Amino acid sequence: MKIIMLGAPGAGKGTQAKMLADQYGIPHISTGDIFRANIKAGTELGTKAKTYMDQGLLVPDELVCDLVVDRVQQEDCAKGYILDGFPRTIPQAEALDQALEALGQKIDYAVNVEVPDANIVKRMGGRRACVNCGGTYHVEYLPTKVEGICDRCGGELILRDDDKPETVQKRLNVYHAQTQPLIDYYTAKGALVEVDGTQDIQKVFDDIVEILSK
Ligand code: ADP
Ligand code: AMP
Repeated sequence: MKIIMLGAPGAGKGTQAKMLADQYGIPHISTGDIFRANIKAGTELGTKAKTYMDQGLLVPDELVCDLVVDRVQQEDCAKGYILDGFPRTIPQAEALDQALEALGQKIDYAVNVEVPDANIVKRMGGRRACVNCGGTYHVEYLPTKVEGICDRCGGELILRDDDKPETVQKRLNVYHAQTQPLIDYYTAKGALVEVDGTQDIQKVFDDIVEILSK
């Protein structure tokens, strides 16, 4: 099963993608996590990506597309995968489609997690990310057992630089201008499914699984 997670920053794409990856036994591929790992490792890609990420802007398509196209051809993707944070622009979606077509594959579902902007700002302020494994929590909605420490790996939790309120609004503007058009794109392909992302985490998950099992 090949799934794309769509939705605004903070809609819960990563949270659901991780749960779906466990449920279906397929990899969760987050371009944001890939960039953050590169920043941490001090690679050239990381250095380039950081200048855009810190400003709440999208990293240029040419730095993202090849990376994802290579990743989805790795062995662990043979049964499918969940793309989280990619595609984020129409050219990225077209590049992915072209590459998949050449492989005789296609995206099965684009899951749009719908959350109004007003809820997003509150969510992002409370999001905490593990510096070590990329695990994501929320101080109120998904707290860790020990404050500030990742349940999964014991790593330190931080407020991401790009989750500060001034950057969040900018990221939302970028989302509406550049990413939201993908909803029409995947509707036209007959792949779009929608879920109410304002419900609690487990209910959102149950709804997605129900849709995907039809
Ligand atoms: P995205 O990957 O779309 O940017 P995340 O999955 O990181 O979003 O979720 C953003 C924040 O909101 C995190 O702190 C997460 O724990 C929290 N969150 C995710 N889904 C829900 C939900 N359904 N209700 C409340 N909080 C949520
Ligand atoms: P995320 O973790 O998905 O919220 O991504 C964090 C940041 O990484 C985004 O705000 C962008 O700057 C960058 N990024 C992640 N994925 C992409 C993508 N597909 N295209 C462009 N930039 C991206």
